[in-house]
Order: sequence, then C-alpha cells, then structure tokens
Amino acid sequence: DPGGARGAAYDGLRLRSVTKRFATFTAVDDLDLDVPAGSFFALLGPSGCGKTTTLRMVAGLETPTSGSITLGEQDITWAKPYRRPVNTVFQSYALFPHLDIFENVAFGLRRRKRKDVKEKVAEMLDLVELGSQARKKPAQLSGGQQQRVALARALINEPEVLLLDEPLGALDLKLRRGMQIELKRIQTEVGLTFVHVTHDQEEAMTMADTVAVMNAGVIEQMGAPAELYENPRSTFVANFLGQSNLVAGTVVSRSADLTTVDMHGIQVSVPTARTHTDGDAGWVGIRPEKVLIGEEGAELDAPGNTIPGGVVTDVSFVGVSTQYLVRMPWGQELQVFAQNTGRQRLFTTGERVELSWRPEYAFLLDAAQDAS
Ligand code: ATP
Repeated sequence: DPGGARGAAYDGLRLRSVTKRFATFTAVDDLDLDVPAGSFFALLGPSGCGKTTTLRMVAGLETPTSGSITLGEQDITWAKPYRRPVNTVFQSYALFPHLDIFENVAFGLRRRKRKDVKEKVAEMLDLVELGSQARKKPAQLSGGQQQRVALARALINEPEVLLLDEPLGALDLKLRRGMQIELKRIQTEVGLTFVHVTHDQEEAMTMADTVAVMNAGVIEQMGAPAELYENPRSTFVANFLGQSNLVAGTVVSRSADLTTVDMHGIQVSVPTARTHTDGDAGWVGIRPEKVLIGEEGAELDAPGNTIPGGVVTDVSFVGVSTQYLVRMPWGQELQVFAQNTGRQRLFTTGERVELSWRPEYAFLLDAAQDAS
C-alpha cells in the first residue's frame, strides 16, 4: 500500500480480486486495479475482454461475484449506483430530446433542488465550449457537441470518478480525434479521475496517463502509454498497441545489458530485461518504424543487428512514411515504415535489401504464448 507507507490515505479507486461470472462464464477474472485520484486511466482491450463489465461494477450497475471495490476509504462494492460519487458517460448520449441544452445539463441539479443552477450550468457549458448553444435542442447539435453536453451533464454532479464507456464511438474519425484532445483538456482542467473504456489503442494512448490492457478478463499489462509501446511484455500487448514484427528465436547467451538471440541462423542482440535462460525459445519484437532498410551490403549505421537477404514484396506510400513488406530468407515478411524525409532512397518491389535496427529498440517476449 504505497499511500499507507507515506502515512496518507489512498484516495483513488481500487479494485481487489474482482471477479464477475455470468453463469459459468468468467467475464472478469480476479482483477486488481489502482486508479490514482485525478488521473486519466484507460481500460483498453478487444471486444468481449470484460472492460465494460468492469466499468459497470464500478458504477454499481453490476455486482461482483467476489472481490471489493473501494473509493478512498469508502467500500462501494455493494452501494447503490446513485449512492456512489460516480457518473457515467455512455456512447449513446441519452440526452432528453424535448429539453434544451441548458435544461439537459441542469437536470441533476434541479432534482437535488440546488439554488445555484444558473451559475453552475453556465460554468459547465463554458467548460465544454457550448456557452452559445444553451437554448438549442439536442437534435440541433452535431454528434460531437451532443457528446460534450452529455459530459457537462455528468460533470455538473461533481462526481469523484467519471466513467466513460466508448464515449466517442459514435463519432466519425476526424471528430473523434478532436474530441480526444478536448476530453483530455477538460480532465486536466477539472482534475477528476476519469476511467475511460475503449478498444481503440490510439485513443487510449492519446488521452490516458495510464493504460491497462485487458484480455480475456485479466489485465495483461499496465503502464504509461510510451512504456507499453516500447516495452510490451506479451505478444498480445505488442500486437494490440500498434504493429510489431515478431520473429521466433532462441536465447544463445546473455550479459547484463544484452541478450543474444538466434533468429533462423542469424544472431541478433536485444536488451536483457527479464530472466531468460540460454536455450529458451522466444519472440524478438521490433516495431516497423524502428527498422532501417538499405541496399544489400550498405552496412547501415545501426550498430548490431543487420539482417541481409531481404526482398521487397510490397511498397505503399502513405504520406508521412513509405511502408514496405520485406520477405526474409526464412520466408517471413517483415514490415518496415520508413519516414518520408524527402531525401531518402526509395525501394521498389523485387529489390534485394538488408534490414537493420539498434538492439535497444527490440524486445524479447516469452514463447509461452502464440504470436498472433
Ligand atoms: P465490448 O467492447 O464489445 O463491449 P467488453 O470488453 O466491454 O466488450 P463486456 O461487455 O465486459 O466486454 O463483456 C465481457 C464478456 O461477458 C462478453 O463475452 C459478454 O458476452 C459477457 N457478458 C457481459 N454481460 C453479460 C450478461 N449480462 N450475461 C451474460 N454474459 C455477459
């Protein structure tokens, strides 16, 4: 208990050994989670991994089969939804169509017979930059604006924790990117704890301080976005967060800094991170944008790992980068994203090339699982 060690009470959201079963199916499996107060936390995972169920248990819309949920000192595991200092924003905004924007946002305050409705609503509408739209009906607003109304309506209740369940899912891509930045700004401004559920890795990485990657009811890895991206600890995380080349290999030797791995007869170095024993089978992971492509024999400047004998099988120009598929001598195709600087040499299909990367950019994963 890090909070306890400093003598201060933990004021965040905490899940301990939370399990949720539906009949014999385990949707959430012995989950532990700490969400520090004031942080932007993302639960990221594919459809059906149990993230919505987790969120619904925090909201009180579902009760755990076992385990506990606490908010600060308060055990809320069994508390009624409306007794929790928690509000949820759903993908379907669920605004009242016959009420104008002002009254939609005012709803919670009116019910609690608050006196300061006018000031509070004005403040909230300013926060979500809809001050000038107060007298419009929801149908007169765009999807992004309606989503901001839903956000204002939840925030006005002053929850300690705001839960967001795929709130941007209904928006088109461009609007969604804009709203991601907007949501992050609002969270920073109000300083509340946001728990955001999404299956969109870019969305989670753009907004959250901490991302928990969920798979089949358990959290596979949790950390800052860059940490997860640079040091995934499983093939699932490596593949779910961006793209990875994964090459099967066997550990040959290790030093404190570098581990030598044999990949189909070619020896490469990767950082020594976890305890791998000589002879262990594993996956060497390398991100496509970390791979350099060059003419065969060019001896690219990356020290260490050079793999000759590649053949370009596909070239796609995508603006910021040129994306290559390169067939390696062992038959596998690797992805290479070469940044378009305007000065780089372009390669064409059929050309023989060598690939190279700096050892510190690669990572080694256990083979206990399949690379998918
Ligand atoms: P999605 O992004 O598709 O909503 P998710 O990660 O949020 O996925 P959950 O909605 O938490 O997943 O569901 C996890 C699993 O639990 C799914 O396989 C789902 O079918 C199952 N499940 C959820 N609610 C129930 C229920 N009320 N009864 C039976 N099974 C359920």
